[in-house]
Amino acid sequence: MTEVQLQEFKLDPDSELRFEVESKNEKVVLEIKSGYAELFGTELVKGKPYEFHTGAKVAVFTWHGCTVELRGRTEVSYVAKETPMVVYLNVHAALEQQRVSAEQECARGPVVMVVGPGDVGKSTLTRILLNYAVRMGRRPIYVDLDVGQGHISVPGTIGALLVERPASIEEGFSQQAPLVYHFGHSSPGENLELYNTIVSRLAEVIAERCDNNKKASTSGVIINTCGWIKGAGYKVLTHAAQAFEVDVILVLDNERLYNELKRDMPKFVKVVYLPKSGGVVERSSTQRAETRDARIREYFYGKRTPYYPHSFDVKFTDLKIYKVGAPSLPDSCMPLGMRAADALTKLVQVWASPALQHRLLAVSFAAAPDDDVLHTNLAGFVCVTAVDPERQTLTILSPQPRPLPSTVLLLSDLQYMDNH
Ligand code: ADP
Repeated sequence: MTEVQLQEFKLDPDSELRFEVESKNEKVVLEIKSGYAELFGTELVKGKPYEFHTGAKVAVFTWHGCTVELRGRTEVSYVAKETPMVVYLNVHAALEQQRVSAEQECARGPVVMVVGPGDVGKSTLTRILLNYAVRMGRRPIYVDLDVGQGHISVPGTIGALLVERPASIEEGFSQQAPLVYHFGHSSPGENLELYNTIVSRLAEVIAERCDNNKKASTSGVIINTCGWIKGAGYKVLTHAAQAFEVDVILVLDNERLYNELKRDMPKFVKVVYLPKSGGVVERSSTQRAETRDARIREYFYGKRTPYYPHSFDVKFTDLKIYKVGAPSLPDSCMPLGMRAADALTKLVQVWASPALQHRLLAVSFAAAPDDDVLHTNLAGFVCVTAVDPERQTLTILSPQPRPLPSTVLLLSDLQYMDNH
């Protein structure tokens, strides 16, 4: 049901206003009229209008009380008095204590992993904890292992960012110089071998960077993960915990996962159970796919600040396109000394075909396929918007003007229909 156009809410201390923008091409403007409030850990400026568009699911929380105005059509809007924010703040306070000790002892700050099933608020809690840390003057590292959403860069990748200022209300964390690795699928299960390889690599590079950046090192790392927690999904999580040498695991809303991790993690890892917020909205697979698509559109066209990507043709013969993972054979058919799993991280050259249309291509920093491509991070992405088999050309949508750098391009399963 659609509600009225102008709404004003008076919030008591420790409560939050939740709203969703659903209708197509709808815009809702939020303004704090009095008092103080924050949005997923970022402070809102009084009197400043903030815009939210279709698909936004938002909570404005206040520690002290405030008045909020919403202009535009919201699908849902209500004030909730029950929130887990005090619990989340206590977690932040405990992490902050670890950072203070790390500073005194010249040691590493807390490395925290947030886990739980899908739609329990993992990404939101990660954002809140990073925002609280950076508001205390810390410089934490944000790691996103959720290939399904790809909050850093695009879906189908994992990545990391040094967080130097709170997330912008409308655009999230600043994406300057992210460290991004190619996976190419929206679930780790599509190629576990490759997923674990790039997770280990990312962990290694972050450990190296922390060795050279004391401030980041004492601030610690906060890792967001996928919502796949059963069977092989659980193994993926424990592998990531080991690779990053985590010392805190925050488990959202799943007692079984909490107990399994308590049982399997070494004693020095603190496994903490946390409630999820009643405000977290469950998304259907269609909504997830739409969010993925929106994320890719934002990558090329920007969110609030518009970007102007370039479109140009390239000769197929000028490109080096590879996909990761050869069809796997049984071990008995493999050359001596090779495991079947090794095939999953092999580069296979891709030839021109109409199947490339709409696909994303990751632009690697590796110059040649025999450079260590999987262990090399990405410069960015382009999208194949058209294939001309006669002229043997591809039309490319690219954030950068031509020419494409003459480096290795990695084919992703993810597609984007450019009808901007
Ligand atoms: P997960 O990472 O576990 O899949 P998210 O953190 O992405 O979950 O949350 C799912 C959705 O719920 C997001 O769109 C987020 O903005 C929304 N959300 C999270 N917390 C709240 C809240 N307290 N009130 C309203 N919406 C929320």
